[in-house]
Amino acid sequence: MRVLVVGSVNADITVRAPRIPAPGETVLGEDARVSPGGKGANQAVAAALAGASVALCGAVGRDAFREAALSGLTRAGVDLTWLHELDAPTGLALITVAAGGENAITVASGANACVTPAQLPADLTGFTHLLLQGELPVAVTREAARRAHTAGLTVLHNAAPVRDSDPDLLAHTHHLIVNEHELAAFGGRGEAIDAQARALLPRGPQAVTVTLGARGSLTVTAETTYRLPAFPVTSVDTTGAGDTFCGVLTAWLAQGHALQGALHAAGVAAALACTRPGAQDAMPSRAELAAALAR
Ligand code: ADP
Repeated sequence: MRVLVVGSVNADITVRAPRIPAPGETVLGEDARVSPGGKGANQAVAAALAGASVALCGAVGRDAFREAALSGLTRAGVDLTWLHELDAPTGLALITVAAGGENAITVASGANACVTPAQLPADLTGFTHLLLQGELPVAVTREAARRAHTAGLTVLHNAAPVRDSDPDLLAHTHHLIVNEHELAAFGGRGEAIDAQARALLPRGPQAVTVTLGARGSLTVTAETTYRLPAFPVTSVDTTGAGDTFCGVLTAWLAQGHALQGALHAAGVAAALACTRPGAQDAMPSRAELAAALAR
């Protein structure tokens, strides 16, 4: 039961400042914090911490940020056989966090934008689940989904950010995961959320999950609707909550759990990730998740 994540790897440089600088303005902030990020790496780490056997296919550069970008993946034991080192800078996210919690993020995709379909694993034997996001070139994500679907894997796709609502990609997706904002990009704006999600089922997915922040999540399948309230926590930083949700959902499905139980575990893990600052650093261990689930 192995999970393949095809996705982005970044180093995040975060500076807390009194406010987000206006155009042309310089604002003096606190010391910078460099931490591992990228939606692909974040979700791979969340899945590995939840106990799944995980491999990541993606790319970094040969520069000084490589190590920071990979530190969480290495610590979580993610298989990096299909991680490519390219002659391009490691992906970077420059994050300014204002005193009020508001943030402004600039992403330099670097090596992530240089990944090509030729760098995907040629043989998917041994993998049961593929987890995708929207931070690699669409041609790579689409080809990964197509090959995995043909090879009989379950394809989970977190369409974040939504690049385009590629019909081919949707047709090869078994489980689509989006937040409310991303859902609206697929059409049906103005309709109720469950109706919007349900309208996507004929386009390919067997399940569509909409994450609703502090309101939990909603999942529709042909047979039923699951509405899961959020696990109550004191939230200090929601960075990485969505990535934790996707990684843990995939890990639990790969470990043979039924959909409802996997959705519950994903929601509890995502809530725990909100209780600490950071993305990968904030994700719960398997023991911590088990303890919260037993509560
Ligand atoms: P994204 O950050 O991708 O927009 P959401 O904000 O919807 O994603 O959060 C993803 C999941 O994290 C939610 O479905 C929920 O389970 C959990 N979550 C987010 N914010 C909170 C919160 N304040 N309290 C508890 N759980 C939360």
